[in-house]
Amino acid sequence: MKGISKTAHAGFSPLIPAVLAPPEVLTQAPPGFIPPPLNPSGARLETKELAPGVYGLLSSKPPVDNSGFVVGEHGVLVIDAHINGAMAGLIQTAVRQVTSKPILYVVNTNYHGDHTFGNYAFPQETLIVAQQKTAEIMRDFEREKQFLLPTVDNDPTVFGDVRLRLPDVVLDEYLELDLGGRVVELHHFGHGNTPGDTIVYVPEARVAWTGNLILGEGQIPFLIEGGAGAYLETMAKFAHTLEVGTIVPGHLALTSGAILDRYLPYLSELIESVRKAIRAGQNLEEAIAGTPLGQQYTQDTAGSDSPLLAQFVAFRAGIHRWNVWRTYQGMKGDPTYRGPEAAYAATHEKNAMFVLG
Ligand SMILES: [Zn+2]
Repeated sequence: MKGISKTAHAGFSPLIPAVLAPPEVLTQAPPGFIPPPLNPSGARLETKELAPGVYGLLSSKPPVDNSGFVVGEHGVLVIDAHINGAMAGLIQTAVRQVTSKPILYVVNTNYHGDHTFGNYAFPQETLIVAQQKTAEIMRDFEREKQFLLPTVDNDPTVFGDVRLRLPDVVLDEYLELDLGGRVVELHHFGHGNTPGDTIVYVPEARVAWTGNLILGEGQIPFLIEGGAGAYLETMAKFAHTLEVGTIVPGHLALTSGAILDRYLPYLSELIESVRKAIRAGQNLEEAIAGTPLGQQYTQDTAGSDSPLLAQFVAFRAGIHRWNVWRTYQGMKGDPTYRGPEAAYAATHEKNAMFVLG
């Protein structure tokens, strides 16, 4: 089951920075963008039973990452490994409060360090599972640490302990894992927040973990690497394929499948508005001004004066500005911008991998 040839890595990393957003991009964003605060210091993970054997691990300090686990007769599957060894330890403590069965799998929903850096702190026997593109991009460990720095108060000690642990098993579009009396499905519907976004779904409970594809209740898509059209297609496939009840999102409050009724129109409207701006010859600033975040996406938080909510509103508004910026760049054919799909195409041939499912 050892999936990845170590010798296939040579020559890989120089390609990645050229085709993905450079590390400093979080601080070069349009005015108003706030990097998500992901420093886990002081965060707890609260266990919430969503169905028999199905548990969400909800961060007490959003948007610090959520996680979760599913228990079957043979063992446990964990969703996302968190940002460092300490947080991965909290996940394992939470599992141990429910069962002494072995942790058979850890699934990484995307390549970002806040979902993968904890991999190394799980037992050697645990198989790390990820989508192919996620596994490939994860190899550029140094770049990812740079990228995450502004999200952890520029404190590199947050992940000072971390050693890169790559996936043992990779999937392309689909993989089913039977934990014994409980099946877990992994779905990759295409590029979204990242090129390899994976949804973990427990069909008997209709519970899904979405990673960054859905950040949380009240949120909008975050096109961190651009690709609005691809994101829309991915969400449409998701909506058509799975009948989701509860969603454990990557970073914020628990939500439900109904959030897709917000995501799909948001993405269509974004594409339409930016296209119009470009046809009208508008520059980026004019396009941003001409594409406000629609009222239907903000009315849930209107009229509240809670400071936490104000922070959430500002974060969402910043994401929207980012989305308009990236969509404009992508459509304008900016030579410095290359769609996220290019990252995979450029490196695919160079890397032999063992694919299950
Ligand atoms: Zn994330």
